[in-house]
Amino acid sequence: MKVKIVDCQRKTHMAGETLEFQLSGVDNSFANGLRRVMLAEIPTLGIEAVTISQNTSVLADEMIAHRLGLVPLFSMKARRLNYARDCPCQGVGCEMCEIKGELHAECPANEHSVQVFVNESLVIDDPEVYPVSSEDRGIWLVTLARSQKLSLRIVIRKNIAKVHAKFMPVATVAMRYATDIVLNPEGFAKLDADKCTKWVERCPCGVFGYDSNTHQVTVRDAAACIFCRECVSTEPPFNNLPEPLVFVYRKKSKDDNYEFTFVVESTGVLPVMQIMYDAIKVLRDKLQRLSTGLSEDPNAGDRIQTRPIGGAPTAPVVPNEDGITRDGVEDNLAFVMS
Ligand code: SF4
Ligand SMILES: [Zn+2]
Repeated sequence: MKVKIVDCQRKTHMAGETLEFQLSGVDNSFANGLRRVMLAEIPTLGIEAVTISQNTSVLADEMIAHRLGLVPLFSMKARRLNYARDCPCQGVGCEMCEIKGELHAECPANEHSVQVFVNESLVIDDPEVYPVSSEDRGIWLVTLARSQKLSLRIVIRKNIAKVHAKFMPVATVAMRYATDIVLNPEGFAKLDADKCTKWVERCPCGVFGYDSNTHQVTVRDAAACIFCRECVSTEPPFNNLPEPLVFVYRKKSKDDNYEFTFVVESTGVLPVMQIMYDAIKVLRDKLQRLSTGLSEDPNAGDRIQTRPIGGAPTAPVVPNEDGITRDGVEDNLAFVMS
């Protein structure tokens, strides 16, 4: 098994970073496994406990604790912390498994109101850990009216999004097949300039370009393709063409696996490259554990009980006969203009 990052682009935006990369050399299940690990199994930090000693604001204690719990925290420190359940302190809490902080805010009697922002008011004992936000003043927690006070302590712990969604380091991880687009120049040679322009404009993603001087249609940005099939539509004026204009395939690597394009959007709690490295590490550790388990007991696989959902037998796999036997197309999900 080999994971190969073919192309890697990083874009920084207000709330975090976006990473786009190509993955090849792995099958669909591994690629989807990587996506799911990025979503749910990267350890990050979150506020786990809030002790409120004074709250005269209009928000109930529970609401303030809930709002604090959802604050994203920069989480590079998570790699060096223990999970509370695995810590030698047995979850009681120590400097190896938790970080503490506090927030004290008050609206003076001579002011109408004060907005309390987490980034300004929350003091965390570890300078490596801080709230992340796209706003300058950070996340707005509550507004205090004249003479109202808020005083609380927090405990930050490490966990993963399988336990609670607030630990998710990404806003989204999108995965799609990389495209292999083959144009048929002979088909375009039989179209006039007007029809070529119309055909190029049909693609909603700007994949194709047309040069009227050379009468050439080219693939400008194959990676932008979303497999919408617009370019192979046979609606007028592109019905009854003598030959196909384009073939759009899912791209395969030399080892016969499909290639994938990933788009990972971080919330800002971890650098997006770190999310990718951590996901690969988590997946590798899982496979290592499985391999070790099976090598200790080679017959373990035979004894694994399967559990049909709701008592129903598992549905048989039905091959797509129509797709497989389509003339001249070996890939059952590729489509051609006909
Ligand atoms: S399927 Fe064709 S029309 Fe649709 S995005 Fe891809 S290239 Fe463009
Ligand atoms: Zn501990």
